[in-house]
Amino acid sequence: MSDLAPVRVDASRGLMDPAAAARELYARIVELYPICRSITGDGVRATLERINRELNLSVAEIATGTRVFDWVVPQEWNIRDAYIADLSGRRIVDFKESNLHVVNYSEPVRARLTASELQSRLFSIPDRPDLIPYKTSYYGRTWGFCVTERQRAQLRDGEFDVCIDSSLEDGHLTFAEHVLPGDTTDEFLVSSHVCHPSLCNDNLSGITVAVSLARLLAPVRRRYTYHFLFIPGTIGAITWLALNEGRAANIRHGLVLSCLGDPGAPTYKRSRQSNAEIDRAAVHTLALAGHPNRVREFSPYGYDERQYCSPGFDLAVGSLSRTPHGEFPEYHTSADNLSLVQGSALADSLGLVLDIVGIIEGNGTYLNLNPRCEPQLGRRGLYASMGGHGDTRGAEQAMLWVLNLSDGHHTLLDIAERARLPFSLVRRVASTLEEHELLRSVPGGSAHAGGGGGR
Ligand code: ZN
Repeated sequence: MSDLAPVRVDASRGLMDPAAAARELYARIVELYPICRSITGDGVRATLERINRELNLSVAEIATGTRVFDWVVPQEWNIRDAYIADLSGRRIVDFKESNLHVVNYSEPVRARLTASELQSRLFSIPDRPDLIPYKTSYYGRTWGFCVTERQRAQLRDGEFDVCIDSSLEDGHLTFAEHVLPGDTTDEFLVSSHVCHPSLCNDNLSGITVAVSLARLLAPVRRRYTYHFLFIPGTIGAITWLALNEGRAANIRHGLVLSCLGDPGAPTYKRSRQSNAEIDRAAVHTLALAGHPNRVREFSPYGYDERQYCSPGFDLAVGSLSRTPHGEFPEYHTSADNLSLVQGSALADSLGLVLDIVGIIEGNGTYLNLNPRCEPQLGRRGLYASMGGHGDTRGAEQAMLWVLNLSDGHHTLLDIAERARLPFSLVRRVASTLEEHELLRSVPGGSAHAGGGGGR
């Protein structure tokens, strides 16, 4: 048993001051936004260095050519500059103005091209003339530029000097982990991708929520070990799983965090298991959060839940976002910027994650020690003792539900779902009833308590 104070599982959202969280979450995005990230290279390292100022990361460098299941760690990509200039040297397209201008992973090039030769190397969005699209070419050697329609129009006649000062060489793939040990070695995985360049919602929002979550959970007592992964999408998750197959077996619950900063309604995508404890905790949280929400079934399409939920692992890892990827108009364009993400939306997302964590931490099974008819609650001062929390009627209902369903078979989450009451209230009531010796905890009783040792 550790000497830390018990985690306030009934008030996990209480760990957070929403206004301060909103400022912190957004400010971190502002700092990370300019960095040109990719699936490998110095952009990822710079991002991890920034995170490391707040969390003690262990950073791994995996060599190019390392076999990871059916994949191979690719060559490392770095870029210093890129432009398309007219023959007077005036830059029409400039990487220094937006790192989205270069197709991510472009091989180096220096050439003088005619307009028609150049046009086939350009990507733009015809019906959104002011936006730069985000394109990658990780696994096919090529080069190209992403431009606005207006820039494309300036490149229709004449000749141009094209430069991509990049390198694509044997090197490393970089990822980082941060582990907060718990009372058990059973793990709660929190995974976010760190491979997109200057895009805020798709990439940085997940990172910033994960960092704040780790900071908030650090000082409290934890039942589970929290394992944070900051990894390049797809190849990073595959690499981590290939190198940590044994450790992955400890993962009992997990969330992939992405697209958490736009003002849209929260969305939970279920794990492949569909109704694991994490799925139920997330769905219950969204249902009682007091605003619209979306729950989606698992699909083998999306972020790194694709890898965690591949059949050889089948981990209970769901995905939390606000508007899902591909469904907001700014997705994978230069409009996914600092004006799309909002501090208040980020803070709301962090609050939802804390609520989900609170359920996973606080879930358990109890036995009613006075099961023949209702115990006399008034005589024990229980009505009055719950009154101080404001919602006396809700507390009374919760007490009756907890007493009724605590037959050793129903978890507190079962009860919260059936009663349609906030889990935090059900949890608090159970603690009070336990103090009054009306309930006894049944060890190992929660749905996925695992076998990692006592609490
Ligand atoms: Zn993306």
